[in-house]
Amino acid sequence: MKAINRRKTKVINIGSVKIGFPHPISIQSMTTTSTAHVQQTVKQIHRLEESGCEIVRVAVLNQKEVLCLKDIKKQISLPLVADIHFDYHLALAAMAAGCDAVRINPGNIYKREHLIQIARQAKQTRIPIRIGANSGSLRYANGLKNSAESLMVRSVLSVIKIFEKEKFYDIIISLKSSDIFQTIAAYEKMAKLVRYPMHLGITAAGLPQAGVIKSSIGIGFLLIRGIGDTIRVSLTGKPEKEVQAARYLLASLGLRSFAPEIISCPTCGRCKVNLPLIAGEVERKLLSLKERFPDICHLKVAVMGCEVNGPGEAREADIGVACSRMSAILFAKGKKIKKIKLNSVSEELIKYIKNEMVR
Ligand code: SF4
Repeated sequence: MKAINRRKTKVINIGSVKIGFPHPISIQSMTTTSTAHVQQTVKQIHRLEESGCEIVRVAVLNQKEVLCLKDIKKQISLPLVADIHFDYHLALAAMAAGCDAVRINPGNIYKREHLIQIARQAKQTRIPIRIGANSGSLRYANGLKNSAESLMVRSVLSVIKIFEKEKFYDIIISLKSSDIFQTIAAYEKMAKLVRYPMHLGITAAGLPQAGVIKSSIGIGFLLIRGIGDTIRVSLTGKPEKEVQAARYLLASLGLRSFAPEIISCPTCGRCKVNLPLIAGEVERKLLSLKERFPDICHLKVAVMGCEVNGPGEAREADIGVACSRMSAILFAKGKKIKKIKLNSVSEELIKYIKNEMVR
């Protein structure tokens, strides 16, 4: 796989997670609970952590919720980002409550004197700020001919200017729209202007099936162009699904590896075996070995349904099988290893990996 040439950026710490080149592109999500319900929120954050989330954001709507941040923070280990709109006092209070980062929206917190106070406190407490523009809350939208992407870029730049004047540089940027083209245009424009790391996302991408596709196109395109240091796949539904989608997205571009990559064919009339069953078994067994053999996550494993395209894909992968009506052929590192019985495909494949490919 061709390596992606990532954009060089400043590095910002959100708690223990480093955002920016050359650090891994991190995965974020956001709770769907009311932050005032501390235990529900903590439980959801624990579930997110188990699913692989690396930074979590909570909505902070009022002073009561700011007070809950301390309690939540004590009970979690993920870095906690407070998401603030409209009231800059909440941003100040969230920093005082010990959150690891604050997200502000330049569409609704834009007064110079308020932003100066945020920058000064963020500098003093060493808490980074994400300036997160959203096309749904553009301040200048009415009556201007400028495109949404220009307006998003312009509103973020105006906040950056104020922050930099205060010598505050721990900034992360996001420019999200529900329109893929607007999002891409905004990030590309901004990437040419500043060195701050970027948080990527397509906002309000939709229900999981469509939302994953939309996000994959938008986020994926930018990642391929080297833009993006942390991502959130916004989906309507359980936030754990966002994390799972983000993992698949990063893994499919070779930017992170969380599990072995399974190459399996869609099957067609040539396939004479129950390939979904075999591929599912292979995946389950590989995942069960992940803790003992972390190296396994870097393997590409092919499980193919016939002798037409099967041998080629199996040879290209680190290890693979090409099934046929009566048996399957095991390949490893481009070479044919042996013929195996159809009822022991997953066992043989795992045995070979354990004996020959991982320590
Ligand atoms: S590998 Fe064979 S069975 Fe699978 S889709 Fe291709 S031709 Fe069909």
